[in-house]
Amino acid sequence: MREFILEDLVRPNIRAFKPYSTARNEFSCPEKIDDYVFLDANENSLGSVLQGSGGNNRYPDPVQRRLKSKLAQLKGVLPENIFFGNGSDEAIDLLLRIFCQPGQDRIVVLQPTYGMYEVAAHIQDVAVCKVLLTSDFQLDSQRVLQAIDPQTKLVFICSPNNPSGNCFERTAIERILTNFNGVVVLDQAYIDYSSENSFLDVLNNFPNLVILETFSKAWGLANLRVGMAFASPAIIALLNKIKAPYNLSGLVQDALYAALDNVALKENMARETIKERHELEEILSSFSFVLKVFPSDANFLFVAAQQSKKIYYWLLANRIVVRYRSQIELCQDYLRITVGTAGENKRLVSALQEYEAQAGEVRI
Ligand SMILES: *Cc1c(COP(=O)(O)O)cnc(C)c1O
Repeated sequence: MREFILEDLVRPNIRAFKPYSTARNEFSCPEKIDDYVFLDANENSLGSVLQGSGGNNRYPDPVQRRLKSKLAQLKGVLPENIFFGNGSDEAIDLLLRIFCQPGQDRIVVLQPTYGMYEVAAHIQDVAVCKVLLTSDFQLDSQRVLQAIDPQTKLVFICSPNNPSGNCFERTAIERILTNFNGVVVLDQAYIDYSSENSFLDVLNNFPNLVILETFSKAWGLANLRVGMAFASPAIIALLNKIKAPYNLSGLVQDALYAALDNVALKENMARETIKERHELEEILSSFSFVLKVFPSDANFLFVAAQQSKKIYYWLLANRIVVRYRSQIELCQDYLRITVGTAGENKRLVSALQEYEAQAGEVRI
């Protein structure tokens, strides 16, 4: 393995600058604050205009200590291994800004995959090298390693992959982690729906690994906009250095703190979704126009169908919205369909039954 030297990867300006220090950074609140007077942050000491909700006049904890220690226990990591972002999207954006010099560096992404890596790179004027997945949407580590050049700072790997839904082979991911001396960002947004193990267990073995997870999917909290990054304390410190000081509101921190008690509920919902996914997979496979339903480790199915565009519009006319991305390489015939409630899935299936019936009539 070539040596991974974090310092050398960080953009010089990011390494050099002194971060903004919030009032709440300089004075970290002790447990008992009743007899303190806070005149340090130009808050409105009189209160807020929002009736019946105390505390909104005060800035929240910028580094979310309470939340991190609770999540650390749940995940079996240290609080220093955790970063919370305004969605995973914030972590993706910050990682690009820490490691990639605009107009000079580049990232490697797989194709097809989640679109935000590329979007965040374009905003930063960072070049994107796309490496095609194999025809069955597997990761070819050889291809990825060949695509890496000295300007490549980040490789984004999404597993389970969006939109194909499958997990990549663990050994292929490990091969990249071992042979790339830049940072590997492993997006595990859908890991709760997967039978594969998370990479969290081996976080300490790979100093160049950043794992992304989100509260937007299995936890059912897309509205809160919170994503997690897990990495070495050194990488987490860099994320904290450049993030907006108060990137998670106090309302969100409180809601999440309570939500972390409900792991069992999350797991029950994931189990129900997986059961629905299996049933839907079977039914969809039986339609004459369906070419292939890709095996999924996520809460959606990637379905190849004849005339997928026609099906997309048929479903829309039935007020059912699925995802159609024909312009993306390897995705021409595919629809990405989120697994819904049993009732929603039934509605999808009956709309497709009607489609099949009328398609048959047209042919005659
Ligand atoms: C949905 C999704 C996310 C979640 O992003 P948030 O900003 O946390 O809502 C992250 N990665 C992938 C691949 C996703 O599909």
